[in-house]
Amino acid sequence: MRAHKSRLEAGPGPGQPVHAASYPRQRRLVLDSALRRQPAERARIFVHEVFHFVWVRLGNSSRRAWEALLEAEIAAGAPGELGWSAEWRKDALRPGDRRNRTRRWREYACESFCDTAAWLWAGLERHEEFTLPRKERSARRRWWMDLRRHHPEGWRI
Ligand SMILES: [Zn+2]
Repeated sequence: MRAHKSRLEAGPGPGQPVHAASYPRQRRLVLDSALRRQPAERARIFVHEVFHFVWVRLGNSSRRAWEALLEAEIAAGAPGELGWSAEWRKDALRPGDRRNRTRRWREYACESFCDTAAWLWAGLERHEEFTLPRKERSARRRWWMDLRRHHPEGWRI
């Protein structure tokens, strides 16, 4: 599958190769059928995609708090991420993206949120895409435990 001009296309052609895509406003989630034979990767990608739905309904204050956590990591010079989807966007950030909350920044924040959820909840001990240092992983885990305490009834999707 490829993501091309905000559309999902199959077979060879232009665009970014992807294993899944979510369309929260259409209530639609698409997984590549090749993932049937890769249960660990399927779990990681499925959790990531489900959290795109959570992000949409999370509320501005929590989203802004997540962005503040990311900003602190970047200010501290922390490299890496918890998934390639967030990492390439982090690497592509330009000065001023955070301050101006550009589309690049907002997409990075969203993908980082979903990759962190997958790291926490998909049950994988390690993965080559888990490159964020230990200290920042711990801070993210604390942030999520706090978020969970504030949503004892669960997250809406
Ligand atoms: Zn994503």
